Amino acid sequence: MAAAGDSFDLVIIGGGPGGYNCAIRAGQLGLKTALVEMRATLGGTCLNVGCIPSKALLHATELYEQAGHGFSQFGIEARDLSVDLAKLMAHKDKTVEGLTRGVAGLMKKHKVTVFEGRGRIAGPGKVTVAGADGEQTLQTKHIVIATGSEVTPLPGVGIDEERIVSSTGALSFKQVPERLVLIGAGVIGLELGSVWRRLGSQVTVVEYLDRILPGMDGELAKTAQRLFARQGFDFRLSRKVTGVEKADGALKVSTEAAKGGEAETLDAGAVIVCIGRRPYTEGLGLETVGIETGERGFIPNEHFRTRAENVWVIGDATHGPMLAHKAEDDGVACAERIAGKAGHVNYLAVPSVVYTCPEIAAVGLTEEQLKEQGRAYKTGKFPFSANSRARANGDTDGFAKILADAETDEILGAHLIGKGVGEMVAALALAIEFRAASEDLARTSHPHPTMTEAIRQAAMGVEGWTMQM
Ligand code: FAD
Ligand code: NAD
Repeated sequence: MAAAGDSFDLVIIGGGPGGYNCAIRAGQLGLKTALVEMRATLGGTCLNVGCIPSKALLHATELYEQAGHGFSQFGIEARDLSVDLAKLMAHKDKTVEGLTRGVAGLMKKHKVTVFEGRGRIAGPGKVTVAGADGEQTLQTKHIVIATGSEVTPLPGVGIDEERIVSSTGALSFKQVPERLVLIGAGVIGLELGSVWRRLGSQVTVVEYLDRILPGMDGELAKTAQRLFARQGFDFRLSRKVTGVEKADGALKVSTEAAKGGEAETLDAGAVIVCIGRRPYTEGLGLETVGIETGERGFIPNEHFRTRAENVWVIGDATHGPMLAHKAEDDGVACAERIAGKAGHVNYLAVPSVVYTCPEIAAVGLTEEQLKEQGRAYKTGKFPFSANSRARANGDTDGFAKILADAETDEILGAHLIGKGVGEMVAALALAIEFRAASEDLARTSHPHPTMTEAIRQAAMGVEGWTMQM
């Protein structure tokens, strides 16, 4: 991955979805670009220890669960099912390997010079790279910080990545923990909790708030909680973990009510700490260019510009949803701005998906946000239980909900829970990007029989003319 370097238009620190997409776009726009990454492979958290390995495990374990519990309704008996965990992990590793190699290929194609080592800003226009062969200094007109994020630690809970793990360790357990305790009922907890529950773990989730999936539409989260509880998740809401002790065999997880008191100790074979992530800027030399981090460690920006001249920031290291496609969009728009163009990201149209079963997908504003903003809105809702394809497939859990401005009918939010909704939400992101009205969606032909018809019926519901219910 090493290459000779001298003077660049742009040096990007961090080779995740933010950094590598910024590099590709910069290359396309004719900027002389370098990418510095301290991991041995490109792709960042997302490809190496995030989106991709987790989805490989989620897909495979969902197939296993379907074969074990979902086939019999169709008269199909799958007997003597078993999982070869080593083979499952090998599939995950092979997927990651292929994709990270692909990113390295893309860097070559777009003439991006890649440096392997830890990047540090050493003053205006200067980045040092400490690699296996020592340290070198790169001169550059612009610097882009794309260093991503790391797990937020929890005092009293020492992560060893074996039994007390972050998401990274939870992607590689050597055996299925009999009892698994998750600290945090957010996206990582529900996704990785699903993986290990399907493989046989008894999963308990300790969540500080009185609800799961904070930030998502409350009605969606409530339905999700009911469905996951039915699958066997044991939710302990409004509780906090005060410490984890390592005993011989089991871990002892001390919990108490979030407001204090009411102590309870849980036994666990493994614990996943998933209480959120925070920007990773350790040893980055921000002080050499006068950048101070803001709330919770985020680097403030205005259209990706930091307060230091020609130093830019994108992805998880700055504000906005911590999502791979958001980092990618930031990267593209930032490269365009550096090249003198008007790169822009519409954060309202960035969708988010929880890849559980059923999936949960959303774009735009939630009902809670609309109420908080005092905006008048109308709601259309349609359950998958009334959708013909969902019934034929036996996938009737969940619903589609569309929120539209009461006066203009512009779609303000879309909230979906159901089988495969993660693939459907892109159409709604497009609708929001194009500032479509709910009537546009309601009058757009949708193929029959598909689950997408539930979305159209929900859009009809905004103006009170849902037809199939
Ligand atoms: P990162 O991907 O974190 O990349 C930053 C890179 O910078 C890293 O490779 C790091 O090694 C490198 N770096 C840091 N400091 C330095 C330095 N000083 N010098 C050199 N290199 C440095 N998002 C989704 O949209 N969909 C998902 O399904 C999804 N699943 C996830 C599952 C898990 C388990 C986790 C943890 C995250 C998931 N995410 C998902 C979030 C997603 O991974 C992040 O939002 C995304 O990776 C952020 O991209 P980034 O480029 O900002 O940072
Ligand atoms: P999260 O913010 O989604 O959830 C963290 C949860 O932990 C929240 O419910 C919070 O209330 C709770 N919590 C916080 N402190 C606690 C405490 N002391 N005790 C108990 N509960 C506590 O964070 P995450 O699940 O760690 O995920 C991190 C980031 O990674 C997210 O921002 C997410 O966007 C990203 N991610 C995305 C995907 C996806 O897009 N499918 C998948 C995985 C991760």
